[in-house]
Amino acid sequence: MSVLKIITIPDSRLKNKSLDVDKYDKELKQKIKDLYDTLYFSENGIGLAAPQVGIFERIVVIDLKEDSKSKPLTLINPKIINKSNEKFINQEGCLSIPGYYADVERSMEIEYEWFDENGNKQTAIAQGLLSICIQHEVDHLNGVLFIDYLSGLKKKMALDKVLKFNKKNKTSKNDD
Ligand code: ZN
Repeated sequence: MSVLKIITIPDSRLKNKSLDVDKYDKELKQKIKDLYDTLYFSENGIGLAAPQVGIFERIVVIDLKEDSKSKPLTLINPKIINKSNEKFINQEGCLSIPGYYADVERSMEIEYEWFDENGNKQTAIAQGLLSICIQHEVDHLNGVLFIDYLSGLKKKMALDKVLKFNKKNKTSKNDD
């Protein structure tokens, strides 16, 4: 089991655009496994994008744990093909912005395509929480964070929260 270190703001690497995966090999499967280990180790994460752990490849793992049952969804090179005009507002958080939550407006429904870990292309429609989660994670692959949709003042509040959160964790856990 490998739990990887999650990069938090204001690390500029979170603004990197990630590259397409072109090899569906053992190494990719290991990265996916490490991403799930890291996601499940986090307290309340439902999705993690590879750039959040410093791997700048288009890999996303999601588990909404519906009815407290694990429901892993691995997306390689995901693309949102269609977005509904109907929007809704939901409170979002992010493992790279620990301790901060804010309302973000997203499309209610999306049509998306992706490759599974064996390189098979898939297409589906997502609604509600899954739709938000995919939009949030695909943004990460393009170097966009949910706080980028907020005002400058809220962005500053988010940064203050994270700096406080990281400081507290450093003193209590005594790690680097
Ligand atoms: Zn995030």
